[in-house]
Amino acid sequence: MTNDSVKIPTGIFGGSFDPPHFGHAGILRSFFREFPDCKEVFLVPNLQNPLKGEKTSSPEAILEMLQLFVSEFEENVTILDLELKREGPSYTVRTLEELGSSYPEREFYLLIGEDNYSNFHEWKDWKKILGSVKTVCVFRRTSETIPENPELGEVSSKFTFLNNPLLPVSSTELRREFGISRENRGVPANLRNYIEKKGLYRT
Ligand code: ATP
Repeated sequence: MTNDSVKIPTGIFGGSFDPPHFGHAGILRSFFREFPDCKEVFLVPNLQNPLKGEKTSSPEAILEMLQLFVSEFEENVTILDLELKREGPSYTVRTLEELGSSYPEREFYLLIGEDNYSNFHEWKDWKKILGSVKTVCVFRRTSETIPENPELGEVSSKFTFLNNPLLPVSSTELRREFGISRENRGVPANLRNYIEKKGLYRT
């Protein structure tokens, strides 16, 4: 049996990443800064967020964009494609089960944005999710103060708010902006070039 105290702390950051942007980069940088013992984050692109509906780019394009995105980090940011390969909605509870089996020596920190904090109690088996992670690290996008979710009740202590800079960018907004102009500044230059080359988000 592995002793909990020697497990390797590892972040898990899931999302559509269509496209990845400076908000996502800010989350990763804040996490590595505030959890210096954590040397690796698993980036888990989803096929279809059950609460969001369809996405627009192919899994191949998402993976290629993420490879460009992670090349900017000195830390270990590892892209895992398990949700892209799985049929049906990408439920986090299932991903955590699979990762728990594949990496029994790890202890997981789940990274989410504040919008997912406010609907966390609607996630499938959300209490089970809380049982399989050490902490849920929440990043603010627009809130100056720490938001509340009264639905979480006594398990609120499982959530930690990070001191991230507010970068109120979203992929939805970027997709719309790319449809209008190719001069978008919400993504790094290498990604902008890729999006241009592949003609993504053209309307
Ligand atoms: P979309 O606009 O398509 O919904 P998004 O910009 O919210 O996408 P996702 O890939 O869905 O990006 O986000 C992955 C995770 O990152 C989610 O938990 C989301 O809340 C969080 N997140 C995304 N953008 C930001 C941001 N600018 N600041 C803080 N958290 C963010």
